[in-house]
Amino acid sequence: MQIWYSSGAYLLTPEGKYSLTQSYNTLLGKHARLRVADLIWTRFAQPKHRFILWLAMQDRLLIKERLKRLNIPVEDDTCCLCEKSVEETHIHMFSTCEWIVRVQT
Ligand SMILES: [Zn+2]
Repeated sequence: MQIWYSSGAYLLTPEGKYSLTQSYNTLLGKHARLRVADLIWTRFAQPKHRFILWLAMQDRLLIKERLKRLNIPVEDDTCCLCEKSVEETHIHMFSTCEWIVRVQT
C-alpha cells in the first residue's frame, strides 16, 4: 500500500478528494476487452448455451480428447455426433463435424 501511495497510483479527484472508484480502476489497470465474452454472455442466448460456449472457450468441454488428457478411459474413438472414426476435438465438434455442418445449413 505504501509503494502504491508513493508511486503516485493513489489519485485524488480534481477537487482534492479521495475517489474509491478511481483507485479501484487504477488498481485494476487497463486490460484489453475480451470480444468473445460479448458473444457468450449475450442476453439473447439461453443460459445452457452460454455455459457450453464458456466451457468451450476455456477448453473444458468433456469431449473425448479431454477425457484422454485426464486419463479417463474412453471406449471408442468415434465422434458422438457424426459417428465417424475421428478424434473429438473442439475444432471437429464446432467446425468440421459433418453433423454440425448439416445443422448450420
Ligand atoms: Zn463428428
